[in-house]
Amino acid sequence: MNTLSIFAGLDANGQIRFVGDVARGAECGCCCVACGAPLVARRGDVRAWHFAHEASQERPDCFTGAVNLLRRLAVERLKAQGLPPMPAYRASVTARPPLPPLHEMLEWHPGDGVVEHWESRLLQSAFVALLRLHSGTGVRVFVEISGASNASLVPATSDEGVLLLTLPLPSSSEDLKDLGAAVRHIDVNIQSRWIRLPDANAKIIEVRERLEDRARTVRDEAEALRRRGSLPTPGLRAASPPPYPSSVPASSPSAPPLTELDDSPWSAWRKPRSAFMCYGLADGTAWILFTHHDGRRVMAAWPLNEGWDESMPARIGVPDLNLGVYVLEDQLKAMIYLGEMRPRVRSASNWSELLAIEWLHRP
Ligand SMILES: [Zn+2]
Repeated sequence: MNTLSIFAGLDANGQIRFVGDVARGAECGCCCVACGAPLVARRGDVRAWHFAHEASQERPDCFTGAVNLLRRLAVERLKAQGLPPMPAYRASVTARPPLPPLHEMLEWHPGDGVVEHWESRLLQSAFVALLRLHSGTGVRVFVEISGASNASLVPATSDEGVLLLTLPLPSSSEDLKDLGAAVRHIDVNIQSRWIRLPDANAKIIEVRERLEDRARTVRDEAEALRRRGSLPTPGLRAASPPPYPSSVPASSPSAPPLTELDDSPWSAWRKPRSAFMCYGLADGTAWILFTHHDGRRVMAAWPLNEGWDESMPARIGVPDLNLGVYVLEDQLKAMIYLGEMRPRVRSASNWSELLAIEWLHRP
């Protein structure tokens, strides 16, 4: 999991001591918080400074004990400095099936809150504080060391919120060498996020109702188009919400030349002079829709990487490993699906025009 050794123990007074803060060797006077064995502070030149067990064998939970001490220090630090600024609550709201899955990110700012009390006993997975928002909502505050301790994240009642503060273990033992370094690590790296916030529920319902209204319009337009057997036309664009067909052929390409030198990887079977439609995603990849000369609508991953045939749900299309593309069951359905990824969309009448799209990733 990590390469850290035991970085902290308890001194005779029960105080947290880091290896750089005590005398070296057995003089350090520290014990392992997990098994109680005396510790030796190893502060050599070769290995990172750490505590070793004097006589007995170190057990896996001895390291966990040190992690719990770091969590305890983080809670003490929060008590002294206050909680970090309240984060915004974010939720992805989606129109429910069978409607087209339009979605929207909801952001809610809950305002400030006051810590009503800090728990006096720190139990491993339990909450550490109760916070009261201005709205009156109670919030359980949990603290966990990410990857090394797990908070239960359970509210006491259904109308309570849950706020989680996480602190990563540093990748270098330098950051846990002494108390000063550990406190800096805590101050810089502790992050808070909402696990639940009932205050946002009414807003979520409002956003979902609006989305589902839009999704019904999208579905009705899609059905109308399907009955007509045509693709979206410019006239329909104004009425339909983004990113659905509105973002499809953004600019209709100028009349294609009568002959075309097709340099595309699919030139052997692509329908001559049929348009490419390119959906560019945020990560630089894209999906390219075009037509087989036998009339089938197909979709290719760009760049042409391995594994492309596992990236689409079966309801969108079937991968044809010979052609190297998805054969689409229904082009409109694929367009709705891709539109959900908020792509940049451009059409191109030939391969060189497609390659000229400035945001298209060049492998
Ligand atoms: Zn131990």
